[in-house]
Amino acid sequence: MTATVLFAARPEAWESYRDPLRRALAEAGVDARVVTDAAPETVDYIVYAPNGPVRDFSAFTRLRAVLNLWAGVEDVVGNPTLKAPLARMVDGGLTQGMVEYVTGHVLRHHLGMDRYIGRTAPHWDRAIPPLASDRHVGVLGLGELGAAAARALARLGFRVAGWARRAHDIEGVETTSGAAGLERVLARSEILVLLLPLTRETEGILNAERMALMPRGAVVINPGRGALIDDDALVAALRSGRIGHATLDVFRVEPLPPDHPFWNNPRVTVTPHVASETRPETAARVIAENIRRAEAGEPLLHLVDRAAGY
Ligand code: NDP
Repeated sequence: MTATVLFAARPEAWESYRDPLRRALAEAGVDARVVTDAAPETVDYIVYAPNGPVRDFSAFTRLRAVLNLWAGVEDVVGNPTLKAPLARMVDGGLTQGMVEYVTGHVLRHHLGMDRYIGRTAPHWDRAIPPLASDRHVGVLGLGELGAAAARALARLGFRVAGWARRAHDIEGVETTSGAAGLERVLARSEILVLLLPLTRETEGILNAERMALMPRGAVVINPGRGALIDDDALVAALRSGRIGHATLDVFRVEPLPPDHPFWNNPRVTVTPHVASETRPETAARVIAENIRRAEAGEPLLHLVDRAAGY
């Protein structure tokens, strides 16, 4: 029987996903129709974005899976009306974009590019940056994105330490876990990258106490989620010089409100949640593969652990 796939994201996303999804499902040999509207009791799968139209899953009585278009699931993982399995997005394009964002922003701070960019008056003040092999970078979160970013930084020669919930083995990266492990990573990180998901355990993880453990003048780069950071503590740490600069892509409220103190702080770089984006062509193949698996009774890829929250 033909499966019904409801595309439940913002209307503008449909334009970019319609053809790739239909193509990917056909290539995967899945007998399915993708629609943007259907009676809930006829829907087998939902391709889902948390900012889309579906909040209550109760009426979707024959739902077999929800396939999130985003890597982050904090807005859906605790939804009590969702009983079907939830898969999150792991997409090669998304990962590549994040590696590029992290690498670019780490290199900006490592090389001290701000000394030169935008200067028009003559100034010949030579400051030779250390080599990457003398620069300590920490990465919190070693999942799909954090591990890829840590690996790329290690390949560039940085001294990378990574922290996650469980043990990891990543070539060229010193990995650790637990509270003591976190303290060790913070204490050595001249540049710290946050790629944790937002969960009950990670909310506010970078607070005043933990920033105080970092080397004076350290740089924080946060493409994870805004609420990983205590904003007031960060503003205070920037004022005191404990933190030298923060490059922030994600915020507790997005768009970042115009009166937020991050905006007029010269030690903060705000990027408007552009670190990386799910790419329709590659993401459609991931979704089609998961629908194929569900139809064949095989385990889904990238299932969310609802209890852990990611
Ligand atoms: P994953 O689920 O693959 O990885 C999450 C990582 O965080 C894992 O290494 C996990 O540990 C670790 N982690 C989770 N909870 C804890 C904890 N309590 N203590 C220590 N470590 C923990 O996620 P992704 O790498 O795919 O994505 C990470 C986040 O990036 C997303 O949740 C999203 O918020 C953000 N993101 C931002 C984008 C942007 O444009 N700014 C784009 C896409 C994603 P373990 O490995 O041990 O399980």
